[in-house]
Amino acid sequence: MSDGRSEAKAGPIVGIDLGTTNSLVAICDASGPRVLRDDDGRALVPSVVRYDSDRTSKIVATVVGREASERAEQEDDDYAREDVRSVVVSSVKRLIGRSLADARADVPYLPYRVVAGDRDTARVVVAMSDGSNASEAIRTVSPEEVSAKVLERLKAIAESRLGVEVRKVVITVPAHFDDAQRQATRTAGRLAGLEVVRIVPEPTAAALAYGIGLSRDAARNQREVSHVAVYDFGGGTFDVSILRLTPADSQTATDFYQVLATNGDTHLGGDDVDQLLVREFMERWIASHALPDEVAAASRLENRIAEGDAELVAGLMREARRVKHALAEQEVATFEMPKGDAAVEFSWTLTRGEFDALIEPIVLKTLAMCEQALRDARAKGLPEGALHEVLDAVILVGGSTRMPMVRERVRAFFGVEPYTAIDPDEAIALGASVQASILSGTTKGSLLLDVIPLSLGIETVGGAVAKLIVRNTAVPTRATEMFSTSVDNQTAIKLSVYQGEREMASDCRRLAQFELRGIPPMPAGLPQVQVQFLIDANGVLNVSAHERRSGKRAQMQIIPNHGLTPDEVNAIERDSLIHAREDMTRHRVVDLITNASLDLKWIGERLAKFEALLEPAYASDLKQQIAQLADLVAKARTDWRSVDANVFQRAKETLDRSSIRLQEVSITQSLKSQ
Ligand code: ADP
Ligand code: MG
Repeated sequence: MSDGRSEAKAGPIVGIDLGTTNSLVAICDASGPRVLRDDDGRALVPSVVRYDSDRTSKIVATVVGREASERAEQEDDDYAREDVRSVVVSSVKRLIGRSLADARADVPYLPYRVVAGDRDTARVVVAMSDGSNASEAIRTVSPEEVSAKVLERLKAIAESRLGVEVRKVVITVPAHFDDAQRQATRTAGRLAGLEVVRIVPEPTAAALAYGIGLSRDAARNQREVSHVAVYDFGGGTFDVSILRLTPADSQTATDFYQVLATNGDTHLGGDDVDQLLVREFMERWIASHALPDEVAAASRLENRIAEGDAELVAGLMREARRVKHALAEQEVATFEMPKGDAAVEFSWTLTRGEFDALIEPIVLKTLAMCEQALRDARAKGLPEGALHEVLDAVILVGGSTRMPMVRERVRAFFGVEPYTAIDPDEAIALGASVQASILSGTTKGSLLLDVIPLSLGIETVGGAVAKLIVRNTAVPTRATEMFSTSVDNQTAIKLSVYQGEREMASDCRRLAQFELRGIPPMPAGLPQVQVQFLIDANGVLNVSAHERRSGKRAQMQIIPNHGLTPDEVNAIERDSLIHAREDMTRHRVVDLITNASLDLKWIGERLAKFEALLEPAYASDLKQQIAQLADLVAKARTDWRSVDANVFQRAKETLDRSSIRLQEVSITQSLKSQ
């Protein structure tokens, strides 16, 4: 099977997330960014390599990924009989590019032997021959070689999906990786027959997957620097990063991504949750067997764990993972004793609430690290102020962010609805592929990426549509626009999202509606509502609204291009061309009604207050102009065709100019009264 589209002469550049626990590969081409799956439809390749050796420590086979990790969990009888030994190497990312001295703290966690190589590098023992202590009897490999095996597997998956040879890659690494770790990752790529065209920090890739800071969006909006937090909770590690994104300007062709601060724990992740569940399960099991002969059974089971009964422990960990994943979807799950020859019947049914209470300390630890990262970022220029004011987005990545409690606590901590539209397993690989397509020049081509088939916008007062993203914009993309209120003391704003090419909402398709509430009462026009449209690499639209003075936020997710066939899209486009001129006039009149009404209100109020201080001739002029404009507004309200837009506009501008004197008087008076 092959997609067959990427047969560009230069060959495709794929993006790879080389994770501690899982790795995956993605491509961004004519069909847009997407992950590439193996023949069983699985994108995640466990970052695990099994080395099989014979008695003489000769490696007879290496197995990568799921088969290797499953063998790690259940012993294989055939292998035992044939005297083949296996060493399963996992989490090698903890060792890559580090000296043994630096990695010492990690070594006790690794279920294989690590020894010193040249220049104090760490090497993994993958085979040992019988009854000999001679050094040549030990076979070791470097962490780079182990990672290369994982990369080879990803390369093979990409090649079989794309039907072409893959030689170039972008690989992501944690933001805190130093130069040696980055270099070693490059070496791993080379060993796998790959040219690593760029190493990208994982949080930067996550931001790219959400289309944050892409320069084409900056060209549409004012060039704004933005700040983003990336909360990455994986299998064995937690990382939080605060990024500053400076969009491209005419001199710098590309956006500038800077990691202001990063914090985390290299031993805090989903594995800890699994262990916590197993420990709690065992305690309950022991507590439920108070009878003497079963105490014996308890100690037997405990002994087996103490003795390192790999099979039982692996079974318990597997069961813990199953329960944990189930509780992300449902309220209750049952932890069953794995069937082994310990064959004891026991089960523990727990609710999501109980699970949440259990993992709360872990989640709180991650938030403390977020706190620290934010402090460090402030020292590097992250603005002071409430987090929801300062951060433009909080992005969740890593499989462990699927736990509902993690999402809730992160939302509460940052005061911001986090971005979760992209699968947390896939965000980094997708972002790497977006970077790859930028490097290969693919994103610059007009039709190469997945595009938004129809414009997307917000209904403004009077029923016109302000388009934030125009049709044929490539995804991912982002656009922001400022709105305000049209009525004094308005505390809620209804936002309607429309799709279509016509100027009036009634001629477009409404996709969704939501409300931004809790705006403090302010005069019309004063609130600053920033509406952001963000379309991620999957084409999912996130709309958020944010009132800047009060910090109130609202947001929702929409899948915008569902349900429309290319023919329908063409028809909508034709329709819009036919109506274009009329629509534009109508849009203009509707906007004039809104703006003229605000002027009339403001000028009318001040005239009533300060008329006594004005020259009578000026006051009567003003009144006449007000009457004229009010008349036009009234007419336009009943039928927009009944007024000439140019006449309307001139009447508004004339009044604006005439009212300058009134404004001066009003300002002088308000200064005096202070
Ligand atoms: P890494 O970046 O370390 O390679 P991943 O981002 O792939 O790791 O995360 C793997 C972790 O995510 C594992 O601990 C796995 O159990 C956890 N995970 C995946 N899906 C869920 C889920 N639905 N609920 C809770 N944890 C999950
Ligand atoms: Mg990861």
